Amino acid sequence: METSGSRSTAARALPVVIRNIVKHYGAVRALDDVSLTVGQGEFVTLLGPSGSGKTTLLMTIAGFARPTAGSIVVGDTEVVRLPPHKRDIGMVFQNYALFPHMTVGENVAYPLRLRNKPKAEIAERVEQVLDLVQLAGYGSRRVDELSGGQRQRIALARAIVFEPRILLMDEPLSALDKQLRERMQIEIRRLHDRLGMTTIAVTHDQREALTMSDRVAVLHQGRLTQFDTPRRLYERPANRFVAEFIGESSFLPVSVENGTARYGDTVLSLAETPPGAAAQLLLLRPEKLLFLDGQAFSHSTTINRLRGMVTEAVFQGESVLLAVRLEGGHEIHTRLPNRQIDNAAAPEIGAPIELGLAAEDTLLVPGDR
Ligand code: ADP
Ligand code: MG
Repeated sequence: METSGSRSTAARALPVVIRNIVKHYGAVRALDDVSLTVGQGEFVTLLGPSGSGKTTLLMTIAGFARPTAGSIVVGDTEVVRLPPHKRDIGMVFQNYALFPHMTVGENVAYPLRLRNKPKAEIAERVEQVLDLVQLAGYGSRRVDELSGGQRQRIALARAIVFEPRILLMDEPLSALDKQLRERMQIEIRRLHDRLGMTTIAVTHDQREALTMSDRVAVLHQGRLTQFDTPRRLYERPANRFVAEFIGESSFLPVSVENGTARYGDTVLSLAETPPGAAAQLLLLRPEKLLFLDGQAFSHSTTINRLRGMVTEAVFQGESVLLAVRLEGGHEIHTRLPNRQIDNAAAPEIGAPIELGLAAEDTLLVPGDR
């Protein structure tokens, strides 16, 4: 921690190498051969729907669950057989797990008392870390007097007060309302940047994962389906599951032959040569679609054109959500940004519409899940 002189957490941060982790609960395969490496000081988020194995993976790293098979190496140490308190890991649980009968200060001091630190050092560290989470002066308050956001900060303070080499967080913000959650995402990321400790967080909220992380590990049915930077995940999803889970998307079946893709009679210019498989899906992100309005569109790159008819238009504030039935028969969704709405009138249902998609934004994903 920067306030404690030479023992900076950044210098003590360690990489975590997870190899071929399998976890069975009876017949349930909670984790199915998961491998990933989290770099020293990196912020990685485990993202996936409910039941995909996120908590199980975090608990195997923390030591609260023993994997059926596989290895977890922290720094140079194989930790799979070590109990949690020997792993030097700070943990923020989903429901904070604060001690309700203790004050804020006592809660934060707890990990230091467990480690038999001298009283004076404990007092000093507690004060420093409360200051770090913007709760200076709250030490003598009772936990149940505090708001959800404040409790979350205390749980965070308690997790980092003993300068663990790794910080784990399981859905740390899920109990907070949307506005506070978004503020805390930025705050947690800033704190990480100041302290530099290797951090692994769990969330089912894709935007939260994109906001906080250096890289995101997407889990699906106990398997790691893609591990990449937020930008790569969004711009180059490995499969339909990732494309659907992160951001908004519509898909069109296309046939691929000799490096070109076809939707009905429309030949599509592509961002990159498609991989072999003939069955592919064209990925359409609402904000990538252009509203051509019949006009000739001057653009430096090739524009693919899709014609159809508006079947639904819903005003949603910053945009109008449009459902469009394409001439090929498929319905897709797109958004007309508020600034492009003429005279506050949404496009009419039944009106013809022509959508454009730049070749560089024309991406295919494998047709099977
Ligand atoms: P997530 O955190 O992504 O929602 P979990 O890791 O909690 O997912 O669960 C993954 C799968 O393992 C689910 O099918 C869940 O029901 C099962 N599971 C998790 N913990 C246990 C347990 N203690 N006993 C039996 N099954 C479990
Ligand atoms: Mg969970």
